Amino acid sequence: MIQISNHMPTKELQALDAAHHMHPFTAGNELAEKGVRVITRANGVTLTDSEGNEILDAMAGLWCVNIGYGREELAEVAARQMRELPYYNTFFQTTHVPAIALANRLAELAPGDLNHVFFAGSGSEANDTNMRMVRTYWAQKGKPEKQIIISRKNAYHGSTMGGASLGGMTPMHAQGGLPIPGIHHIDQPNWWAEGGDMSPEEFGLARARALEEAILELGEDKVAAFIAEPVQGAGGVIVPPETYWPEIQRICDKYEILLIADEVICGFGRTGQWFGSQTMGIRPHIMTIAKGLSSGYAPIGGSIVCDEVAEVIGACEFNHGYTYSGHPVAAAVALENLRILDEEKIVETCGAETAPYLKQKWEALADHPLVGEARIVGMMGSIALTPDKASRARFASDPGTIGLICRERCFANNLVMRHVGDRMIISPPLVISKSEIDALIERASRALDECLAQATKDGLM
Ligand code: PMP
Repeated sequence: MIQISNHMPTKELQALDAAHHMHPFTAGNELAEKGVRVITRANGVTLTDSEGNEILDAMAGLWCVNIGYGREELAEVAARQMRELPYYNTFFQTTHVPAIALANRLAELAPGDLNHVFFAGSGSEANDTNMRMVRTYWAQKGKPEKQIIISRKNAYHGSTMGGASLGGMTPMHAQGGLPIPGIHHIDQPNWWAEGGDMSPEEFGLARARALEEAILELGEDKVAAFIAEPVQGAGGVIVPPETYWPEIQRICDKYEILLIADEVICGFGRTGQWFGSQTMGIRPHIMTIAKGLSSGYAPIGGSIVCDEVAEVIGACEFNHGYTYSGHPVAAAVALENLRILDEEKIVETCGAETAPYLKQKWEALADHPLVGEARIVGMMGSIALTPDKASRARFASDPGTIGLICRERCFANNLVMRHVGDRMIISPPLVISKSEIDALIERASRALDECLAQATKDGLM
């Protein structure tokens, strides 16, 4: 057997990776030719690759490393828990202390009467739980016809059959026969791309009312729930106009539709408060959580459920659960992560100091000739790349061509920014300091300049 380690030359690691490792959301053959980037270590907001480059991770991994890399406390808690009780399940009338403690802490942190937690291994699994839970809820209430879940185009809710079906990503629906039945997608509140001549406020109302139209069309007695991210993440950090969420809340209340807030990205401080629902002023019946729950140090997700739904579900045997629901090591790590986020006032500092500092600098990027709009909430931001600001025009090239160039220029400047089509997005660790924010903005500006130069040279402008 070959001994594979951090000390191997990059080329060898790349070849071994290409031979046996299939990557998510990646054209494998193309990647194998190009050579994959090998990350070997990380600390704070900085990644180190196998070539010794130090890269500022403005994506916190996949939007998840909220407390930053390299926290020894989490490693210690994990090791201690592995020694004491590495695994036990929470099925069939058993429990363990890490699951009890984490559920209790989440009930304290979550707003309103969101007091009950169903654990999963990931955000996708938690959304699958939610689908089955809301349908079971209505069946238990004597309304088995209330089964349809309304979601949005360009939403992301995971990669399982349920999660990808709830999501509104057409390239995902095109593979594997999705969406599964019983899901209806309405238009998203993306004013910059789809708002036309409307003001953002008018457009926000119009897009919220698409929910009401869908409910009336499908029949109030057929619709179980509406699911949405408080701020769409993977769709390109689409910040909805201010009029959007209050109107959605009014509609859900009026028609007795359960509201599921997918907080997988927005939760645990990302928007400057503990939950995106608080930032957007909404009262969900269920929140999907994952990512920042453990800051990505261990795989764990879940659904935080309100009293009423939990009571109805508790009255039947809910035939659902995962081997790793409430996994003791992941739960212990998550609990320690929440302690650090709270005791070190990371969420508070982000909301009151660093996120406003980043906002001011990020929004100034809108002055760059390539940038149509720069939006940000807390520590999640996006910029739309455009050949013409005034008309909010798209590039004539295939969507994503300029975005990819920009992402490459970011990498070349030791900055991880992601592109969604021709939108660039960031979601740095919440612990990013003001001087690291300065470095992020400086590298992003340089990458934009280089991207503009290349796009001009390639005749893409
Ligand atoms: N919901 C949202 C809003 C997400 O952003 C994601 C992941 N990006 C998921 C669900 C799925 O989570 P996971 O990848 O942990 O299954």
